[in-house]
Amino acid sequence: MGVKVTRREFVKLSAGAGAALGVGKMLAADAPPRPGWCGAQRVAQIATNCEMCFWRCGIIAEVADGKVVRITGNPDHPLTHGRLCGRGNAGTELLYDPDRLKYPLLRTGKRGEGKFERVSWDCALDYFAKRLSELKAQYGPESVALFPHGVASAFFGTLMKAYGSPNHAEPSFAQCRGPRDVGYALTFGRDLSSPEPLDFEEAKLIVLIGSHIGENVFTSQVTAFANALSRGAKLIVVDPRFSTSAAKADWWLPIRPGTDIALLLAWMSVLISEDAYDKEYIETYASGFSQLAAHVRGFTPEWAEAITELPAADIRATAKAMAEAKPAVLLHPGRHTSWYGDDTQRARAMAILTALTGSWGRKGGIFLPTPIKTGKFTPPPFPKSQRGRADGAGTRFPFASEDQGVTNGLIDATLTGEPYPIKGWVVYGQNVLQSIPQRQKTLAAMEKLDFIAVLDVLPMEPSNYADLLLPEATYLERYDLPHIVTSAKRPFVALRQPAIEPLYESKPGWWIASEMARRLGLQAYFPWKDPEQHLQTLIEPLAISSNVLRTRGAVSFTGRPYIEDRLPEDGPLFPTASGKIELYSASLKDAGFDPLPQYVPVANPPIGYFRLLDGRTPLHSFGRTQNNALLSSLTSENELWINAAAARDLGLKDSQRVVLENQDGSRSLPIRLRVTEGIRQDCVYMAHGFGHGAWQLRRAYHRGASDAELMTRVQVDPIMGGTGMRVNFVRIVREG
Ligand code: SF4
Repeated sequence: MGVKVTRREFVKLSAGAGAALGVGKMLAADAPPRPGWCGAQRVAQIATNCEMCFWRCGIIAEVADGKVVRITGNPDHPLTHGRLCGRGNAGTELLYDPDRLKYPLLRTGKRGEGKFERVSWDCALDYFAKRLSELKAQYGPESVALFPHGVASAFFGTLMKAYGSPNHAEPSFAQCRGPRDVGYALTFGRDLSSPEPLDFEEAKLIVLIGSHIGENVFTSQVTAFANALSRGAKLIVVDPRFSTSAAKADWWLPIRPGTDIALLLAWMSVLISEDAYDKEYIETYASGFSQLAAHVRGFTPEWAEAITELPAADIRATAKAMAEAKPAVLLHPGRHTSWYGDDTQRARAMAILTALTGSWGRKGGIFLPTPIKTGKFTPPPFPKSQRGRADGAGTRFPFASEDQGVTNGLIDATLTGEPYPIKGWVVYGQNVLQSIPQRQKTLAAMEKLDFIAVLDVLPMEPSNYADLLLPEATYLERYDLPHIVTSAKRPFVALRQPAIEPLYESKPGWWIASEMARRLGLQAYFPWKDPEQHLQTLIEPLAISSNVLRTRGAVSFTGRPYIEDRLPEDGPLFPTASGKIELYSASLKDAGFDPLPQYVPVANPPIGYFRLLDGRTPLHSFGRTQNNALLSSLTSENELWINAAAARDLGLKDSQRVVLENQDGSRSLPIRLRVTEGIRQDCVYMAHGFGHGAWQLRRAYHRGASDAELMTRVQVDPIMGGTGMRVNFVRIVREG
C-alpha cells in the first residue's frame, strides 16, 4: 500500500472537504511540479480530476517517491472548489488495490471459470485485432458490439465506429438518465447533461422526486443543495422512503410507488386552474398550452389523493408553494430515472411542470448551457453501416439516443440473432452483469458469443467470462479527454493527467484504443500522436495555455446561463421543431405515443411481497468501489430498509440477516435488515452495487446483496428503450 491514512484521518479529510493547499502544480515535461507538503513529507502536487465516480471533481494528487500519498480537493476547480467526497479521498486505495488487474490475460479455462494465462501486450493486442478482423470477415463489422462506461469510452467508441460497427451502448442511458434526457429534450429541445445545470444558488424552492441527494453524492451538487437550505430555500421531497433529503424537507410526501405522474398532473391542474402558473413565460415561450389545460382539468388533488395516497391538502399546499416561489423553483430532473417503463412520460410531466413555473433558463431553476468552441480533428468519415443498428435505437425505440445506445437492445440482438447476429463484445469498464437487469439473459447472451474482450481496472464479474482481459490504468495514471463542461454557470475545461506512471503492466485507455487502431489499419481515425498533441488541438481556439491548464487543473470562461444573457452564437433558445417549449408533443404523437403525459397504473405487489426499490449509498459508486479498503472499512455491505410494522408482522428484527426471493424465485445473498418507520409498508429499499460475484475482489466478494440478482423483470419504455426496474417484488426469506 502506498498510502498511510488512518480511518479517523480519512473521515476527517472527507468531511473537511478540501484542505487549503494553495495552487496545485502538475507533472509536465516543460513545467516541473511545484513541491508542497503532506504533513512533514515533501510532495509534488498534480492537479487532475477524480474518477471514483463520473462527476470528475478537481483533485490534487500528492506524490512522493513515485507514490501518490494523498488526494485532496483542488481549490482552483471551478465547480468543486477544493471539496471532495469520501470516495474521492479514497482514490489511493483504488490505485494500490492489490486485487487490480495487472497484466493482459488470455482465457485458458471455460467461460466463467476465471482461468487465464499472462501474455504480453503485443500478443494480447495482436490477438484482439485478429479476432476483430475474423469477425468482420465472417459476419460483418456490425457483429461486434461495444459496451463502454467511463471517461475513456470515447476512444473505444471511435475505434468501433471506424471498424464499422454502429453498435455501442452505455447503461447510463437505458438504465439511468435516458428517460429523463429524452423527456426534457422533447419538451425544451435540450437534455440535461452531466453535471446537471441546476441553479441551487438562486432557488427559493427545491423539489426532489425520488432524487436522493446526500445518499447519491456529487460533491458540488450536495454542497449547493446544503447551502441552498442554509440560506432558507424550501424543500419538497416526494419519496416512499424517509431519505436523507426527506429528513431536511419542509414537505415530505411519502407517495405510493409508481404514481408520480398522477401527482405531477394534479400539480399542473392546480397551477392552471388557479391561474398560478407563469402566464407571461408560457405565452412567450411555449406551445400547446390549451391542449395541456384541457388535458389536466380533471386531475384534481382529490383525484390524485386516491391514487398517490397523499392528502389532497398537501398536494394543494405544495402547488401553492411552487406558485409563490416561481420562477425560482428547482424541480430536480433526477438521474436514475428508469423506474416503471413510462419514465419518458414522467420526465415529460416534470419538464412541463418546470415550464409552468417559468423555471427553465431562469434564476433559481434550470439554467442554460454555454457552448465552448474547442479545436477539432478531421478524421475521415466513419463507414456507414448498411444494416443499421441492432439495438433498436431510432427504430424499435424511436427516441433512443444513437450516441448512447440501448444496452438491453444489444443483449436481445445477441440472444436472438435479430436483426442480425452479434458475435463479439468489447466490454470497457462496464459491469454488464450488475448494471443491466435480467442478468440471466445477459449470461445467456454471453454464452452465444464467439469472442469477448473485457478492459477494466479491477476484475469485475464479467472479467471471468472474457476471452481476452486487459488491465486499464486508473484515472491517477492516465490522460483522458479533457472534461469540457458547458452545463456549469461558468463553462470550463478541466484536465485529467497522470500523477504517476501506470503500475504493473496496466495501460491507459487512449493507448489501447490507438494501438488497436494501428493494428486494424484505422490509425487515420486517431490523428494525434499522444495526449499532449490531442490537448493542444482541443484548446487551441480557447486561447489558454496548456501550462496554465496543467498547473491549475481547470480554466473557466464567461457563462450566459439565463435567457436574458443569451447571444446569437449560443443557438436557439428552445431547439425543438417548433422553436418553442413543446408542452404538447407533436413528435410523440406522430410516433404513436401520448402527446401529453397520462397516468397509467402499475401492478401492485402480490400479497406477501414488497416492491423492491434501489438507490445509492454515499461511500460507494455503483458497483465500482466496494473493494476499496477505506470505503469497505466504513460501508462493507448494504442493508434492507423495511417498515417497522411490516417487520413486526413478519416477526423480523432490526439487524437480522435475511434472504430475498423475487416473484420469479430468484434469491439474493443474505442482507441485514434496517427496521425503520421511514419507509412505506408496501416497499423495501436497498443500495445498489453490492454482492459482487467475482471472487478475485477479496473485500467485496459476496458482501451484501445484489439488487441485480432480483431484477429478473423489466418494463421497457417503448419511447426510448429504457428498462423500468421497479416492477420487481420480493418476499423475505429467513436466512438458513
Ligand atoms: S463526487 Fe466524490 S467520487 Fe465523485 S468525482 Fe467527486 S470526489 Fe470523486
